[in-house]
Amino acid sequence: MAQIFAYIEHKGGVIDDTAAELVVAAKNIDANAAPVAIVTGSGADLDKACEQAAKLYPEVWKFDNEALAYPNAEVIRKLLVAVVPQDAIFLVPHDTFGMDLGPGLSVKLDVPYVPDVIEIEAAEGTNFKMVRQEYSGMAHTHVACDLGGGAVITPRPGVFQAEEGAEVGGKVTDKSGDIGDLTAGRRFLEVVEAEMGDVDITKADVLVSIGRGIEDEENMDLAEELAEAMGAVVSCSRPIVDAKWMEKSRQVGTSGQTVKPKVYMAMGISGSFQHLGGIKGSPFMVAVNKNPKAPIFQVADVGIVEDILEFMPDMAEKIEEMQ
Ligand SMILES: Cc1cc2nc3c(=O)[nH]c(=O)nc-3n(C[C@H](O)[C@H](O)[C@H](O)COP(=O)(O)OP(=O)(O)OC[C@H]3O[C@@H](n4cnc5c(N)ncnc54)[C@H](O)[C@@H]3O)c2cc1C
Repeated sequence: MAQIFAYIEHKGGVIDDTAAELVVAAKNIDANAAPVAIVTGSGADLDKACEQAAKLYPEVWKFDNEALAYPNAEVIRKLLVAVVPQDAIFLVPHDTFGMDLGPGLSVKLDVPYVPDVIEIEAAEGTNFKMVRQEYSGMAHTHVACDLGGGAVITPRPGVFQAEEGAEVGGKVTDKSGDIGDLTAGRRFLEVVEAEMGDVDITKADVLVSIGRGIEDEENMDLAEELAEAMGAVVSCSRPIVDAKWMEKSRQVGTSGQTVKPKVYMAMGISGSFQHLGGIKGSPFMVAVNKNPKAPIFQVADVGIVEDILEFMPDMAEKIEEMQ
């Protein structure tokens, strides 16, 4: 089997949860795989990220350069094309960055691209079956792919759940000397932090998160009442922000906030990858949805097929009775 590489995302010296998930995805391809972590950046934050990656990966390749300080997919693609073998199996999370990096990388390496993968299963030899979702998760597509000549695969964040395991004690190799020309048309200008609003959902331990299933602005009070009974904070999916029923600062997802609660109550949320991509740290997830086939049930710890307009006031009442 070809060598497996994984791109490690990190911010402020802390690696993303997807770093551990890509190890699981690599092991699904080859149980004996010794995947190589690729960590790019500059300075002390990069060193910290490499140290953490070495706890998960037997081998870490570090690329330190001022031009890599911000994860500009165009620059990183150029680097990877130069340093990764053409028949490599390359894993990168299916998030905003991965979606930017993956397609062009597969074109440059002339290998297949399999995006947003939720299952990887060996078929025969180097042939694999990969499962993707279509129509907001209502249908599954099985993709047959021969990985013998390499591929770029973007596993969906949060799906390849990593178990707490022993640290591997990997080796960090500084490959910065291999960095060639990194000039690119796209330039990083600045980071514009999202406005925080009155409540910071990123700090909450318990979130009652509302999706389009709330149906009407008038029903938003039901969410507030449940959150109050639970000592929770209300967050939401993007359609709620688009409808102007909540501030942007309450939106969970790839174009909203990244949250790390202990408990996540997904109320009338279908479970798009853009929404789930904003939930980190594997919280205990309770999903209530009136469609038994809603994709959110595939990732929830507890799934309840129910109308949230009845469930939320009932649950709030029960909690109040218990107090
Ligand atoms: C570039 C891009 C970025 C995006 N970023 C984000 C993001 O950051 N965050 C985000 O959330 N989305 C984001 N989206 C949108 C995303 O693709 C989905 O459209 C969105 O997450 C769907 O929100 P939802 O689950 O609330 O609504 P829907 O997908 O419409 O789901 C509503 C669910 O409620 C259920 N339901 C309906 N009525 C009831 C009821 N009475 N009781 C119980 N269940 C009920 C339905 O069965 C359904 O499953 C992004 C999209 C793009 C293209």
